[in-house]
Amino acid sequence: MKAIRVHEFGGPEVMKLEEVADLTPGAGQVVVRLHAAGVNPVESYVRTGTYAMKPNLPYTPGNDGAGVIAAVGASVTRVKTGDRVYTSGALNGTYAEQALCLEAQVHPLPDNVSFEQGAAMGVAYGTAYRGLFQRGDAKSGETVLVHGASGGVGTAAVQQARAAGITVIGTAGSDAGLKLVKEQGAHHVLNHASEGYLDELMKLTEGRGVDVILEMLANKNLGKDLTVLAKKGRVVVIGSRGPVEINPRDAMGREADIRGLTLFATSEAEARQMHAALIAGLENGTLRPVIAQKIPLSEAARAHVEIMKHSGALGKIVLVT
Ligand code: NAP
Repeated sequence: MKAIRVHEFGGPEVMKLEEVADLTPGAGQVVVRLHAAGVNPVESYVRTGTYAMKPNLPYTPGNDGAGVIAAVGASVTRVKTGDRVYTSGALNGTYAEQALCLEAQVHPLPDNVSFEQGAAMGVAYGTAYRGLFQRGDAKSGETVLVHGASGGVGTAAVQQARAAGITVIGTAGSDAGLKLVKEQGAHHVLNHASEGYLDELMKLTEGRGVDVILEMLANKNLGKDLTVLAKKGRVVVIGSRGPVEINPRDAMGREADIRGLTLFATSEAEARQMHAALIAGLENGTLRPVIAQKIPLSEAARAHVEIMKHSGALGKIVLVT
């Protein structure tokens, strides 16, 4: 099978398409014939070799994918050969024609959802779910600011929050992004590149502020986030690219919380809850992953150049085989 291999850490060009041996599942494992793989910012951080997670070289990047079960190992009971699935994590990376996964890492992909959309699920929808419900404790009737709503995690969060009866304010940095965020179900959209957009948010909430903020760029926004939270509000830090100065008094007066999130800390029980909700959302049509770009697997380096731009996002980038 063909797979992207990384033999040394570095820029996007270190990702090379190679021919490698087909995979065989061990006990409790499955092999998925992948038709698409999701591209997430974390995979570009890992590839540089400077991230907290540093795989042994050589390795195949990728956490997310979708395809058909090609082989199952002993004691696998939940899926069978031929089933359509999406993956959330893999033992050997998903930028490849095949992925080796634990049984618990594959989830049924309804017939109405394409493989490209399935490949957009794991990290983005999982993080959005965890941010809203497992870390942010967002409830129906509350108001959420998705600060950075036009990308993979943001679009997933807008759809899930809207379906849960939450009032959604989403931001983007371009007109196309604002239009996309509105189409995903945001009640209000604001441009995070405009002066005074958070004053606008205070007007939208009649001076009360928002109950939960899902923050995609905390190093830029956290200080101001604390000033637009309602009493007992929660900021969930999902993305950050550096330090930031905050005024702790903005949190004290509101009894507000700043809560970190890492998807990699999701427990098995939380993952079961998460994927049960995500599969239900795919089945009932409230979750509709938005594909920004389909890029051939052989051009994975180009996909990382795109994901590292960190602006102009319009949904997910996926690799197709
Ligand atoms: P993405 O698809 O590249 O989207 C990036 C988002 O950030 C876009 O919506 C972009 O909006 C927005 N953004 C740019 N400038 C902003 C600003 N000044 N204020 C607020 N938002 C801004 O990336 P993603 O997959 O959605 O991931 C988003 C972030 O979360 C990344 O930093 C990623 O590493 C992180 N993440 C963390 C975890 C975790 O476990 N903690 C999991 C998944 C992702 P425009 O392009 O419209 O400007």
